[in-house]
Parts: sequence; C-alpha cells; structure tokens
Amino acid sequence: MDRASILEWFREEDPARLDELWRLADGVRRENVGDEVHLRGLVEISNFCARNCHYCGIRASNASVRRYRMTEEEILAAAHEAVSHGFGTIVMQSGEDYGLAADRLSDVICAIKAETPLAVTLSLGERPEADFAAWRDAGADRYLLRFETSNRVLYDSIHPPLAGRRSDRIRDLETLRRLGYQTGSGVMIGIPGQTFEDLADDILTFAELDLEMIGVGPYIPHPATPLGASAGRRPAPHDGQVPNSELMTYKVIALSRIVCPLANIPSTTALATLNRESGRELGLLRGANVVMPNLTPAAYRVLYELYPGKACVFETAGECSDCIKRRISAIGRKVGTGCGDSPGRRLVNNAAAAK
Ligand code: SAH
Repeated sequence: MDRASILEWFREEDPARLDELWRLADGVRRENVGDEVHLRGLVEISNFCARNCHYCGIRASNASVRRYRMTEEEILAAAHEAVSHGFGTIVMQSGEDYGLAADRLSDVICAIKAETPLAVTLSLGERPEADFAAWRDAGADRYLLRFETSNRVLYDSIHPPLAGRRSDRIRDLETLRRLGYQTGSGVMIGIPGQTFEDLADDILTFAELDLEMIGVGPYIPHPATPLGASAGRRPAPHDGQVPNSELMTYKVIALSRIVCPLANIPSTTALATLNRESGRELGLLRGANVVMPNLTPAAYRVLYELYPGKACVFETAGECSDCIKRRISAIGRKVGTGCGDSPGRRLVNNAAAAK
C-alpha cells in the first residue's frame, strides 16, 4: 500500500468503506500470523526515569510521582506468575532508570532464562550500547523502543537531550537489530502537531525498519506534563492534525498489519483505556494478534502512570489474565502457545539453523 492510499484511509469516514478496511486487515492477519493471540506478561519494573519526554507522566521533573524500583526477587516472582498463567513471554518495562544497574539486570535475565521457558522482552528506554549488549548476552530476546513519530522536528520538540546527547531512537533500533534482538517499535497517535502525512510516514517507516513487533496507541494527555498541561490552551487543531481517537488507532493498527503482514501487533492498554468495553477485542479484530496483560504488583501498578485513567490498573494479575483470555475466546480466537515469535523471525532462525 502506498502513501497516497494510506492518506485516503486516514480521511475515510464512511462506515461501509471502513468495514472493508477492517476485513482486509483481519484477512491479512489470519493468513500471516493465524488465529492465535499471544499473551505477554507486562512487568513495570521501575518508574524512575532520567528523561523528560514532554508527554509522559513518569518524566524526571514530575515531582508528584512516588518512585519505586522492583527487587530482583519481585521480578522473578512475576516471571513465575507469567508461567503459571501460561504466558510465553515476560516484558520488563521501566522508565530510563540508571539505578537499574546493567549487571544486576543481567543477573535477573539469566535467572529468568534458567528457571523458566519464557522469552524475555525489554522495554527500558535508550540505554548505552554496552547495556543493550550485556542484556543480549544474558539471554534477552527482544527489545521494544517506540520511535514515537518519524517527524524529526516534532520528535526533537518533545524529547529533550539527555546529558547533551540528542535522543535518536532510530539509531538505537539499528544497534539493537545488529546485536541480534528481535526489535519492536511504534508510535503514539494524535501527538499535538502530528499531521496525517507524518503518520503515513510512520507506517512506511515500520516497513523500512523491518520490525518484528509494532505497538501503537493513542496519545493521552497527562496534566502533569508540558504537552498535557497546555492541552486546554492550545489553538483549535489545525487541519491535518491527527486526532488521538479510538477510530484513528484502529486505522493505524489495520494499515500497519497490511503493510507489515508478519509483525506481531498488540491491542494496547492505551486503546483499552479509550474503550474499556471492547477496545481490546476491536483491536484484535482489525489487525492485532498480541495482548499484554499486566503482571506488575498492584502497589506499584498505580504508580506507573504514563497517562491518567490507564485501563487494568485495579485488577490482580490473575483477574487481568482471566479477563483477557475470556475476551479472546469470545471473539473466536485462540490463546497462543509457546513464545510467539513473529513468523518472519522464525524463518530467519530456521535459515540460521540450516547453515
Ligand atoms: N522508558 C521506556 C518505556 C516507556 S513507556 C521507553 O522510553 O521506551 C512505553 C510507551 O508509552 C512510550 O514509548 C510511549 O509511546 C507511551 N506513552 C508514554 N506517555 C504516553 C501518553 N501520555 N499517552 C500515550 N502513550 C504514552
């Protein structure tokens, strides 16, 4: 699909035409990644962050956040819980927390790999290459790092440099790929200042980066951030501003599936936050094939507030897992077994094994 067609779909409002898009995306999903929905247990291991991204609730300057960092024992317990719920992957996510020393995290990764059959996915921000390399050596399989927007000017305006170094997630994604990680990225939908053209380029960038995983969700304003605080005072959205809406999110999920047929694409928590009733299911019916139930201990979960009103915050891990499995069965899909690598990656692995 080319840029012009993507742009046309972005502006499409006719429900009958949109049904065609959903059907097309669902067909591509079924043919390429099948009916299994892979579950990834999400553990938010720390909300300390060195960065000051203009949209994110756990940014360093937000003094109202009570900070926590999980212990090695707590993380390992969460990994065993993931196994007990039948999940194939643990995703460890955090702010960019240099108090999470690279070698201590390597020990945790080694322990998880030794004690469980889980695939290990990291989502810990823009760390130095030496840290990425150490974690890969320790056994980490995948890394998620959203590039947030392909518009470089918009990107720079909401990602201040850290210690004089300009943030560059595309460069980091290339590093991660070179180190042998399965790489995942994605964007927020409806960032103030983001145009339809930018978002079309985002989707084309997913294909260029040849991602194994693509995560997209609506931008949700957080009042304790520069972008969120200015929301009320902003001039009326200019024509071409992407809405941070549920419909726009489905369009991006569907188009990402069509452009990157083999990728693993989650139906995200941010989407479920906009529509608690059926957001997860509609994401799965319009291109997605992954869900990430939250395994973070309850006391910490409420403190990992990237944006307000986050779905699934007041449930136990067991409830979250049961609820998601029920929703998957209700739409006629199957809960995935095994690690749930993207089929593209399986081909690469098989080719490597054959050598
Ligand atoms: N520190 C890690 C993990 C960040 S949280 C990293 O930087 O990669 C994961 C994702 O949450 C971010 O990549 C961003 O896309 C999303 N996010 C953060 N603030 C948000 C907000 N206000 N609304 C919607 N999504 C948000």
